[in-house]
Amino acid sequence: MFERTPGEATRPLPSRWRRREPERTALHAVVRGHLADLLDDARRRSDSGTGYPAFVGHEFHRYLDCGVLAHGFARLRCPDCGFERLVAFSCKGRLCPSCWARRAADTAADLVDRVLPEARYRQWVLTFPWEMRYLLATDRAFQGAVLRTFLRTVAAWMRLRARRLGLRGGQVGTVTFVQRFGGILNLNPHFHTLMPDGVFIEDADTPGGPLAFETLPSPTDVDIAALGLRLATRIGDLARQRFRQTQDDPPWQDPDELPLRLTVAEAVRPPGPKPPRALPWEAAPPPDDQGAGTTAAKALCTRVQGFSLHAARTVAADDRMGLERLCLYGLRAPFSLDRLSLDPDGQVRYRLHRPWPTTEGRTEIVLEPVAFLRRLAALLPAPYQNLVRYHGVFANRSRFRNRLPPPPVRSGETEVASAANMNTNSAPAAATAPSAPDAAAQATVTAPAPPPPEPPRRTRLGWAQLLRRVLDIDALQCPRCLSHRPLVVLAFLTDPAVVRRILEHLKLPATPLPVAPVRRIDWESECGTGQQPAAWDRCDANWGTHSAGDDVGIHAPARGPP
Ligand SMILES: [Zn+2]
Ligand SMILES: [Zn+2]
Repeated sequence: MFERTPGEATRPLPSRWRRREPERTALHAVVRGHLADLLDDARRRSDSGTGYPAFVGHEFHRYLDCGVLAHGFARLRCPDCGFERLVAFSCKGRLCPSCWARRAADTAADLVDRVLPEARYRQWVLTFPWEMRYLLATDRAFQGAVLRTFLRTVAAWMRLRARRLGLRGGQVGTVTFVQRFGGILNLNPHFHTLMPDGVFIEDADTPGGPLAFETLPSPTDVDIAALGLRLATRIGDLARQRFRQTQDDPPWQDPDELPLRLTVAEAVRPPGPKPPRALPWEAAPPPDDQGAGTTAAKALCTRVQGFSLHAARTVAADDRMGLERLCLYGLRAPFSLDRLSLDPDGQVRYRLHRPWPTTEGRTEIVLEPVAFLRRLAALLPAPYQNLVRYHGVFANRSRFRNRLPPPPVRSGETEVASAANMNTNSAPAAATAPSAPDAAAQATVTAPAPPPPEPPRRTRLGWAQLLRRVLDIDALQCPRCLSHRPLVVLAFLTDPAVVRRILEHLKLPATPLPVAPVRRIDWESECGTGQQPAAWDRCDANWGTHSAGDDVGIHAPARGPP
């Protein structure tokens, strides 16, 4: 009997599907209640009166419409017993946790099935001193330059090690997940990079043929410390150059940039008393290249001049499920709905994943609703900003990309795919799971090998297929007769009059919940000054001189700076 994961056969049947009812979540309530305040606040804070860039309001509004039946739905029916189910439309936005999770699952499945060959993978995480984070978050060109410097440095080091082992012409590939957030809803742009732990090399007998993968030995703490120092020096140089340009031509001269800048400045600063310090790269780096002056708290992890490099996490070559989980980790949403709750007085409470190190182990933050939304606004990636980047042999333009070994076929993939295929009512091609050439057939091919065939064109996985793959939920199974035939889509209903009639007949809410109008913000209670400060320094006192307790609402008794 086939088991995709050990013990699967004895597990209970897949969970039943339930409508997720986003309008009942704390996030929906906060956005509904305070979106108007947020946008109004931003307009008043910007000198030009325009407020946020248009995409911010757009994303929030899209989120409010997502998954709400009153905005339209698909009508599904069981072909055997006539059971009917309504499925609301989704927004595909970048604020919506549900649509984010769906997109992440889809991308991770694509990476594992179509892009990443079988190899041991290592996750490299690079984070930056907080003085750099504002520029990294807002200046796309700078962010690109930093990422390229990071990857070139690590790739050069990998190739050097390969050469020392006699492997010439080694090629390296990376997939980078750009995350904009830290653990406390703060803006903390950093990179999670997946890299095969070795090099791809050409077979001398078959030039132009498929590349083979050679695993290299794991790095040591000394290697990581030296790499961390090299990265801090190189990226520090880039940042210094960029700061010099910024002084001549500050990006915040543009009035439209201002509200975003305010938001970002507010979100970028980590909590806890932190006296101003010199930019970390202004200090002279330690003299030798062996990582002196760096601190390594954990294995394969180094902190130097405000940068931190972490490379301890690996996934074995045969652990494709683990690889998919690691991809999902890099692709995860900026915040988790499960950890968000509303206090009776309307404050937003967010439980932290782990106690925050600089605040004496505090485990949750409490924010004013508008302050919470401001943070979310700062975490929204700009439109068309790609959060997954491919470099080296995985880059689209790489001449080696078509010569990589094909990713292994997931055992049971055909079975899952065919089941899901039947399930989705769309065109069959749209739901076909990518099928790599058969592994056995590959093994029997002897030289000269033809280049591996072009992988099948990528199409998005269907909704039901993703639910099944990630949550093990069969959304298209009839809960009444448990028929093996999936529910079929009868119609997509968008006409407001029809939608309303059906929902009223079913005694379901037929109108979306209303969005609250602007509530003028009480400046006195918010800033404690009683007068509205100028746009730029508004509430500056709140996070400049107050300490952690008030400014970011870390939930614990307020205390002064040390
Ligand atoms: Zn049925
Ligand atoms: Zn959505």
